Amino acid sequence: MPAPLHDRGVISRYREYLPVSDATPVISLNEGSTPLIHSPRLSEKAGAEVYIKYEGLNPTGSFKDRGMTVAISKAVEEGAQTVICASTGNTSAAAAAYAARAGIQCAVILPAGKIASGKLVQAYLYGAKVIAIKGNFDDALRLVRELGGVNGIAIVNSINPHRIEGQKTGSFEIIEELGDAPDMHILPVGNAGNITAYWKGYREFAEAERSTRLPRMVGFQAAGSAPIFYNKVVDQPNTVATAIRIGNPASWEGASNAVTQSGGSINIATDEEILAAQSWLAKNEGIFVEPASAASVAGLFKLLESGASLNASSIVLTVTGHGLKDPDTAMTTGDYHPIEAEADLDTVRSVLEQS
Ligand SMILES: *Cc1c(COP(=O)(O)O)cnc(C)c1O
Repeated sequence: MPAPLHDRGVISRYREYLPVSDATPVISLNEGSTPLIHSPRLSEKAGAEVYIKYEGLNPTGSFKDRGMTVAISKAVEEGAQTVICASTGNTSAAAAAYAARAGIQCAVILPAGKIASGKLVQAYLYGAKVIAIKGNFDDALRLVRELGGVNGIAIVNSINPHRIEGQKTGSFEIIEELGDAPDMHILPVGNAGNITAYWKGYREFAEAERSTRLPRMVGFQAAGSAPIFYNKVVDQPNTVATAIRIGNPASWEGASNAVTQSGGSINIATDEEILAAQSWLAKNEGIFVEPASAASVAGLFKLLESGASLNASSIVLTVTGHGLKDPDTAMTTGDYHPIEAEADLDTVRSVLEQS
């Protein structure tokens, strides 16, 4: 029987795997249950069954909602009046929405001028206090670490372990849909919370005997923002994929453990490759994702180009955020413009007939 309508978020569905009790108020927007879409064209290219976990269909348009429902519920349980986070955009959108839902304050610290328009408008509309600093994400996170944890202010960045707990439910859903874990899981890596969370989820379901295998975890960073790949903090990270524009990931160690323990790897994709993959996915599979999310697809293409055997019969790509988050990048990349025509039948018909 399907869960009742008020009972469909990730806390309700996976309560026994999450740090909640009857005393925890559940602050939810029915996040999770995102589609796992089979990709015939990627499958053909890869010689394996390829599935896209479309996290852009969460309530605020990114996977951040999975962790935020747990983080905000716990913050309210613990008596927080305000939540605070540093963000490249999607964390702030999710924090602001769930804080609004909980009826508490939210403050977000963002790198000025580096937030995609769709994400910024969300923070405003959900009623957050938006502070734009002259610095990057890593500077913002440093400030948040100093401001939070006192005076009823809870930090809801992924340094808050409740975020990782909620995000691991992505793995649970994939295992439930496929009947087992895939052989390989590819995802973009920024602050590295998500790769850490997925790996935790896969291990927990294997331990609970809900799956029989563990996937290799394969992360992709943007080439101009690839501290884990180069094993060196990047002081001035730069990439068009603003959601992964991070020079000193908070969950660096979690990411390293995930790839070492799973036999996976961390790799890089250039901005050009990321943008090409974004438009390829939209045109060929009808799935529009933001640039950071396309790092998964660019990553699969790179693995295929390398010529090495993938040694996988099933592959899942997480695409982390919706394309409408960042329309400006897409518009300027493609140089899109309409074909202008007079409003008469013959003109429009002749335009249609042009090749
Ligand atoms: C946050 C985010 C990422 C990066 O996830 P991490 O957990 O920071 O590695 C990737 N894509 C999108 C759309 C995001 O919002």
